[in-house]
Amino acid sequence: MSASYKNDDLGGSGSKHQAEPVNAADEQSGDNRSSSQRSSLQDNTLNNARHIQDIIESIQDSYYEVDLKGNLKQFNTAYCELLGYTAEQMWKLTPHDRHTKEMAALINRAFIEVYKTGVSKKSLDWEYIHKDRSTVRVEGSVNLVRDAKGELAGFRGILRDVTEQRKIEQALRESEARFRALTHLSSDWYWEQDEEFRFTRLESRDATRDSVRNELFGKRTWETGYDIQGDEGWNGFRQLLESHQPFRDVVMHRQLEGEKRHFVNVSGEPVFNCEGVFTGYRGVSREITDQKLAEERIQYMATHDTLTKLPNRAMFSQLLNIAVSGALRYQRNFAVLFIDLDRFKIVNDTLGHEAGDLLLQEISQRFKNAIRASDVLARLGGDEFVILLQEVSDTAQASIVARKILLAAFDPVVLMGQECRVTASIGIAMYPSHGEDEPMLMKNADIAMYAAKEEGKNNFQFFSKEIKTSSLKRLSLEANLRHALERKELFLHYQAKVDLVNRKISGVEALLRWECAELGSVSPAQFIPLAEETGLIIAIGKWVLRSACIQNMEWQRQGLPPICMAVNLSVRQFADADLLDDIRAVLKETGMPPELLELEITEGMVIVNTDRAITLLRAIKNIGVRIAIDDFGTGYSSLAQLKNFPIDTLKVDRSFIRDIATNSKHKGITEAIIAMGKTLSMTVVAEGVETTEQEAFLLDHGCDEMQGYYFSKPIAANEFAELMLTHVEALRVSRQV
Ligand code: C2E
Ligand code: MG
Ligand code: MG
Repeated sequence: MSASYKNDDLGGSGSKHQAEPVNAADEQSGDNRSSSQRSSLQDNTLNNARHIQDIIESIQDSYYEVDLKGNLKQFNTAYCELLGYTAEQMWKLTPHDRHTKEMAALINRAFIEVYKTGVSKKSLDWEYIHKDRSTVRVEGSVNLVRDAKGELAGFRGILRDVTEQRKIEQALRESEARFRALTHLSSDWYWEQDEEFRFTRLESRDATRDSVRNELFGKRTWETGYDIQGDEGWNGFRQLLESHQPFRDVVMHRQLEGEKRHFVNVSGEPVFNCEGVFTGYRGVSREITDQKLAEERIQYMATHDTLTKLPNRAMFSQLLNIAVSGALRYQRNFAVLFIDLDRFKIVNDTLGHEAGDLLLQEISQRFKNAIRASDVLARLGGDEFVILLQEVSDTAQASIVARKILLAAFDPVVLMGQECRVTASIGIAMYPSHGEDEPMLMKNADIAMYAAKEEGKNNFQFFSKEIKTSSLKRLSLEANLRHALERKELFLHYQAKVDLVNRKISGVEALLRWECAELGSVSPAQFIPLAEETGLIIAIGKWVLRSACIQNMEWQRQGLPPICMAVNLSVRQFADADLLDDIRAVLKETGMPPELLELEITEGMVIVNTDRAITLLRAIKNIGVRIAIDDFGTGYSSLAQLKNFPIDTLKVDRSFIRDIATNSKHKGITEAIIAMGKTLSMTVVAEGVETTEQEAFLLDHGCDEMQGYYFSKPIAANEFAELMLTHVEALRVSRQV
């Protein structure tokens, strides 16, 4: 049965509508045809009307017809269902029941327009109020309705329920917006590729990237000038794409001319259509240039020394490990050179860190120039460098490079307007004979370097078993020396100086002794350099100074005549900023008259930083303390250089005195030193005098004093007190006689 509904009261009798079946519609007809004619006409009309009703009913969408006043004249079941009313209820509704006021006005306007123009309207976006008060969204159309006479009688149209569709559209729009916001927040690019991996879509929130988009569009990633990070390279990546695998955080980079390097992080996933057929890739890219460059900087800083820009210890150790595995595979040999600068600490302490830094930079550059590009120079820290000499098969080749390095270090460096000279000590370990792995090679090269130091510095040594034994000794020596002071293992011996003319004891030198509980008696030649290197000498030196002054005062308290006490100063002590204060404090504490104290320094200490040395020595002199140059003749200085220093005493090194009788050169040097010392009004003391001949020679040549086993060995304090007493007494007796 037809369920279309029609209100025949066209032209509208008001707001009251009655739902009536369409077949009850056509009542009046004003024509005058015969009754059979009429009846067949009526039949036809009825049939037509039914036909139209059926059509209207068969439309899936809602059908409506209204009169010119907007009163509902006809509708179909779909229309009722659209709004949730029965046909009965529908007839009773007013337009306001179906629409909000605003919507009613909007619809009215559409009707008026159609009325005026006669042109139908389609796809109108309207809203209805459902019986349950929810909003029904429709896409409506409006067409003019003419009556049999062709007069305008109302409007009709179709309403398509698009509520769900609109909801989906809205959801889609929101989802699209969310997706955009997300990709924009988390990435710089959203991209899509076709099944051949060509870019088909590139979206960036940044409009300035249009040129990049144009450049990449239609290309495959590996055709864009980017390199890919990772061992597998593009081949591995292409295999991954071919097998339609997702990928995450793949880093790619490129450097365009005139631009800085550019890094991106790319993630993507394969796309399949609903039939499961692969259609391409989609993904996001994020620019990570800043992060990558920062990472590289951090990596560089972690592996390089900031001062010299050389690889650091960590990096060197990696490179050495690589060299070991390479050498193992290809049967190659190489050498490790461990370099330590000899007098760097003095420069650093006396000229300051800035000068020290400059020196290290200069020296490292020279070392670099002395080796091949394939060799590796690294700074291990402080004044320690290390070189990996690639493909060196024998010690002769390594020796050549070591000599070059020594020469490079030896050339003077001008720092703060001063010429400074440092030397280097080099230890060499050959692979594989001196070590087969990185730790062993490093350790043995280090051991060999210490051997070079012990050999008098400014030389190189290859690792050997003997060297290793002495190095172990050195280690145990160092460990023991650290506790020598607190364990009270240190003490002083005293050696007299004698006036060559009147034979009186003119002074005494305090000489340090170490009786180690574990190692026995250790000579100063062994432990003083060690104390110097380790810095222990500062504390030890202070102890010596204080003990010597206390002893001196003690002798006077015992009734001995006052005597000048010579105390040796080490390089480190001389460079120590507290030296002056320490001297003052000790003199004050012990009550020792300053003129009874003589400090022995060596040439090396004063020629590194002459300005500082002069200032310091003058300050010491101002306190009233005397200054002696010890071991004179062994250093680089000349007497001419020394004349600017406030020096009281010159001690001629034992090596010249030892063979005065046999070595004419040494004899000559000694004569010259004595003569020039006298010219500069210094007291000249000969060290290590062991024989009458030596004594006679020195007396002949005007030397003032002598010190040596000939008169007395260094002896304990009480023995020295006795020596003084007996000597004074003997002198008195001999003079009386
Ligand atoms: P030095 O200051 O030149 O001391 C003289 C060294 O020559 C002493 O060696 C002494 O025992 C030795 N000697 C003296 N007369 C003769 C001789 O006739 N024949 C021989 N063969 N040797 C003689 P020592 O005591 O072994 O000291 C060696 C060096 O250690 C000293 O040389 C000095 O540079 C250093 N030293 C000793 N005590 C101290 C100290 O308290 N502080 C510092 N910084 N260095 C010290
Ligand atoms: Mg001395
Ligand atoms: Mg000496």
